[in-house]
Amino acid sequence: MNIQPIYILASIFFGVAFVLAIADFLLTSNEQQVININDEEYIPAGDGTLLEVLGENGIFIPAGCGGKASCGQCKVTVKEGGGDILPTEEPFLDEEEREEGVRLACQVKVNEDMKLELDESLLDIEEYTARVAEVRSVTPTVKHVRLEMIEPTDIEFEAGQYAQIMIPGFEEYRAYSIASPPSMAREENALQFTIKLVPGGLCTSWVHFAMEEGDIVKFTGPFGHFYLDEESDREIILIGGGAGMAPMRGILERLDELGMPRPTRYYFGARNSDELYYGDRFAELEEKYDNFEYIPALSDPTPEDKKNWDGPTGFVTDVLDEREGSLENAESYLCGPPPMLDAAERILVDHGMPEEKVMFDKF
Ligand SMILES: Cc1cc2nc3c(=O)[nH]c(=O)nc-3n(C[C@H](O)[C@H](O)[C@H](O)COP(=O)(O)OP(=O)(O)OC[C@H]3O[C@@H](n4cnc5c(N)ncnc54)[C@H](O)[C@@H]3O)c2cc1C
Repeated sequence: MNIQPIYILASIFFGVAFVLAIADFLLTSNEQQVININDEEYIPAGDGTLLEVLGENGIFIPAGCGGKASCGQCKVTVKEGGGDILPTEEPFLDEEEREEGVRLACQVKVNEDMKLELDESLLDIEEYTARVAEVRSVTPTVKHVRLEMIEPTDIEFEAGQYAQIMIPGFEEYRAYSIASPPSMAREENALQFTIKLVPGGLCTSWVHFAMEEGDIVKFTGPFGHFYLDEESDREIILIGGGAGMAPMRGILERLDELGMPRPTRYYFGARNSDELYYGDRFAELEEKYDNFEYIPALSDPTPEDKKNWDGPTGFVTDVLDEREGSLENAESYLCGPPPMLDAAERILVDHGMPEEKVMFDKF
């Protein structure tokens, strides 16, 4: 049989290419992929989403919805790797964020080496094991919860920041503002939370119907850029509604520790008096400081309230509008449902408060 040299050469070429391709596959499939963070830290990349892989390596990114791409909190800047933006991420990313490589960590699959830029504060977040030391109702729909840290026992945070509590058995987190001051964490290794029941909600149903004193829970934190500016000398207007009480109480307890250094007014909106809580504590602060005022307003008083309530009625934002004059030298911390916060922001700015001095947490 007469085989042409060209066929011999082609066979050798394809044979060598095949062997090289197999070798390359074997080598790269055994290679450990890595995630480079802020040009310094390398962590071995495991299987799963970026949110999961970071969590497994002790880097906890806020993700209030538990990784379902419905809260948009787990944004990270991906400089290399991670593939294209998915349709599930699009509603949460504006043009500028897309150009900068911002992604939702819960949607990015880790299947190649990656380079990330993370806010340095996220690298300090820790996971805590704690014991439920107290759980009691403060209104028919709000529980006051005290967690005592077992391991680690110390946490540094600013008044107003939040933690993420893990729902036992579901490995999902929900965000809850810390309603106690940093000194309680330092002196008693404890944090307090106020948790409002969302009918049918996973975490709040557990807290309201199953949580018991002595239970062991896990949480991560502290998170968030919403906290008291202790360097400022402006007057303070706090506005809260519903579960938005929590960070306000944390901020007020901190102001108490500081001796209420600035005139402070706290507006709290509720439908009726059943939804008011911690009133005794705020009355105590009013008694203690001439420059502190607590102004609860009822938007939908019950017949009983109509007989007994002598405070303001109507939307808390209207009460704010009526009572306040110029707010040029004030700053505001707002927390509550989005419509209330939008209305409050408009009013504060109309009263002369600089827009950048209106700080809020919507939930
Ligand atoms: C930064 C931050 C701080 C927070 N701090 C507090 C706090 O201090 N106290 C507190 O009680 N909550 C707080 N939340 C809200 C909390 O994280 C949960 O979203 C809430 O408790 C509901 O959790 P769930 O698991 O019970 O409900 P899910 O199982 O998550 O939700 C069940 C259903 O209810 C809807 N839902 C979720 N939340 C609400 C709501 N507020 N009103 C109406 N429907 C809702 C969901 O869309 C879903 O359809 C905070 C949220 C954020 C982002």
